[in-house]
Amino acid sequence: MRFNKPAYPTVYFSEEIWVKCPKCSKPALVKTELPKYIIPFPRGHKSVCNCNHCGFQETDDNNWSGYLQGFVNQACGNCGSGISHTTKATKEPYEKSEITCSVCNDTRDYELQWYRYQNEKPTDPYFGFDLWLQTNIKDNVLWLFNINHLDYLNEYVGAKLREDDGRHKYSMITNLPQWVKSRKNRDVLVKKLKKLKCEFQNKTVDDKV
Ligand SMILES: [Zn+2]
Ligand SMILES: [Zn+2]
Repeated sequence: MRFNKPAYPTVYFSEEIWVKCPKCSKPALVKTELPKYIIPFPRGHKSVCNCNHCGFQETDDNNWSGYLQGFVNQACGNCGSGISHTTKATKEPYEKSEITCSVCNDTRDYELQWYRYQNEKPTDPYFGFDLWLQTNIKDNVLWLFNINHLDYLNEYVGAKLREDDGRHKYSMITNLPQWVKSRKNRDVLVKKLKKLKCEFQNKTVDDKV
């Protein structure tokens, strides 16, 4: 079997994203009207999250629930040299970070500014809710937006012949981490993807109201 599907960017799969409902943890759907495909992720889109189980709804994507990253970019309070610092991504932002100036060694607290962090986390890019379709593989998390996304990855992972021509830098496959591309993980990945798909389908069938 060969894999020769088009090189879709990840955003291509993001019109329908299954997340864990922040209220009841069951699958809720984030639907987004994409103005056009802007990569890696668009601005000016319109997203709505609905949970059929408990009625939860979110339409204001200013209410970001995902990870944040803190930045300091200012002059050292002692010698005036430029200080720049980036925190780890977190869901619990804090006000200040203690930073030591690399020029004068003065250490003090600097105020952080927080921005949305959308990379490499198993959350949806529009509200920051946890993705429903995620599974641990060793120390890594494999995540997907929806079943089309899962099938697409499954076809790639399971293929004996993976065609690498014509990929661009935003292609979802190009951006897969090495442990997903590694052929020695093929069997475990195929197994996990199959299990995840079954779990999801059972969940959405059983719970239909
Ligand atoms: Zn719910
Ligand atoms: Zn300094």
